Amino acid sequence: MLDIRSKNTKIVAIGVLLLLIIAAFLLLRQNARLISAQQLQVLQEKQLIKRLVLNEPYLYIQTAKTLYRIPVEAVELRELGRHYPIEVEENRALYWLAGILSLTILAGVAFLYWRLRATRTPGMELERNGSRGELPPVKESIEPIRSRVKFSDVAGIEEVKEDLQEIIDFLRHPGRYRKLDIRLPKGVLLVGPPGVGKTYVAKAVAGEAKVPFFYQSGANIVEIYVGMGAKRVHELFQRAKQMAPSIIFIDEIDAVGKSRGALRSDEREATLNQLLTEMDGFESSSGVIVMAATNRIEMLDSALLRPGRFDRRVHISLPDREDRLEILKLYLRRKPHKVDLDSLAYTTVGFSAAALSTLVNEAALHALRHGHSEITDEDLEAVREQVISGKRRILSFSEEERRIQAVYQSGKALMATWLDVSYEKIGIVTTRLREVEREIDSRSELLGRIKVHLAGSVATRLVFEEQFSNAAEDLATARRLAERTILEYGMSEGVVPKGDEVDRLLIELYEEASTMMKKLERARQEIEEYLLKQENIREEEARSILRDLF
Ligand code: ADP
Repeated sequence: MLDIRSKNTKIVAIGVLLLLIIAAFLLLRQNARLISAQQLQVLQEKQLIKRLVLNEPYLYIQTAKTLYRIPVEAVELRELGRHYPIEVEENRALYWLAGILSLTILAGVAFLYWRLRATRTPGMELERNGSRGELPPVKESIEPIRSRVKFSDVAGIEEVKEDLQEIIDFLRHPGRYRKLDIRLPKGVLLVGPPGVGKTYVAKAVAGEAKVPFFYQSGANIVEIYVGMGAKRVHELFQRAKQMAPSIIFIDEIDAVGKSRGALRSDEREATLNQLLTEMDGFESSSGVIVMAATNRIEMLDSALLRPGRFDRRVHISLPDREDRLEILKLYLRRKPHKVDLDSLAYTTVGFSAAALSTLVNEAALHALRHGHSEITDEDLEAVREQVISGKRRILSFSEEERRIQAVYQSGKALMATWLDVSYEKIGIVTTRLREVEREIDSRSELLGRIKVHLAGSVATRLVFEEQFSNAAEDLATARRLAERTILEYGMSEGVVPKGDEVDRLLIELYEEASTMMKKLERARQEIEEYLLKQENIREEEARSILRDLF
């Protein structure tokens, strides 16, 4: 009986192995072994790298014997690019498909291997092929990197750096803080769109504080360490505590911490619970700071945002004109060029820092290919279209999108100024409302804030008779504030909230905002024009526009 079974198993195993070999041949990349940034450094130091291929989200590293891969965010591409040429590949969809296929096959083989091992007799030892590469498998150890990024490498985003200064000081001198029993946040959530430097700035914090940096991507935890996510999280915290002071950085935390509602997954839930347990289980004085990045805070499970967890938020928005200028200066600092930086900063609305970096690099390549000795505006123009819409598409705004944003944000700025909701600046790519940290909020203040978040949508409806997806985040915030007002603070019409009171409040405020906006249309137009020219408007400037008109 047992014999027959193992014979069958063998046949199936050989079949699957054959399939696997074919698949592996075709899809080598997908089976490439995942390595950490430190292991990459080892490869670099041993000069084993033969070829680098970028196919997001991974960078593939070909050595003489083996193909490795590493999440792109874990490496300094620009730095690496100085030493090796990096080839770029696209067609992700195919690789996704290929990936799924090969994973299925792998799972089959793993299952059979496991069965064979379970029924193994001394004579049927399977040959292991795991130890052929130059490096030990990544799963076994969690190693930090030593970041060499400094704040001086991070251009613009001054407020963000200021916000993080305290964390750096704490990591440098945890003892001082302990002595005075000062509690610091355990978790810092970096919120912002892709490519604005969330990972980079976290690395810079580690670099400035000279502490180990543990990088983990949320997506990897749930996708690669299938069934082991929770364990992985536990080990990560263990290691970080051993090496404290240190930083744990969890990229794309939404992959783990998506709000539980719609897409339930036991795997993700277990991982998330482990993360919450770990965060509750250590004292902030232990010297570990957990930083995490997301581009969609409204998607996160509220448990993550509770006090004692990620209770410090740092928003990083797309760079505005001044920031872009700083970033461009930094990128072109050591490149010979004759570029009009001001006008380039002006015309790159919507570009993230990463996008600007791509643009500059492509322009440098263009200059090289055409035998120019320096980068010129023409080189930039030549690659711009290709960078915006071509193979390596990056986020940027078209003229039309810029206009929509100008209308949208002018509505917000107008409403905020009119209702005395304090803000630092409101602009086409960045908006900074001041977070008022008060113990007691009045109902009218809360309603004012809600109206500001509705005002953009109100404005585009009035101007274009249309709604746009850029309103999503504001609308979600408006709803959250309305819920808080009525359900949490109990500021309902009666004493007890009734049925759909939140909805009714929102509708009412939307209508009020609409009426008000119609009356103030001229002022809104002026602000819109100001935004189209200047990109940002500060409270004082909006106030003076309103003063002149009324
Ligand atoms: P995110 O994590 O927000 O998606 P990254 O931190 O991965 O973005 O940024 C991508 C790359 O863009 C970084 O490796 C860095 O080279 C560059 N970069 C991002 N922000 C800045 C900045 N403020 N100054 C200089 N370079 C930046």
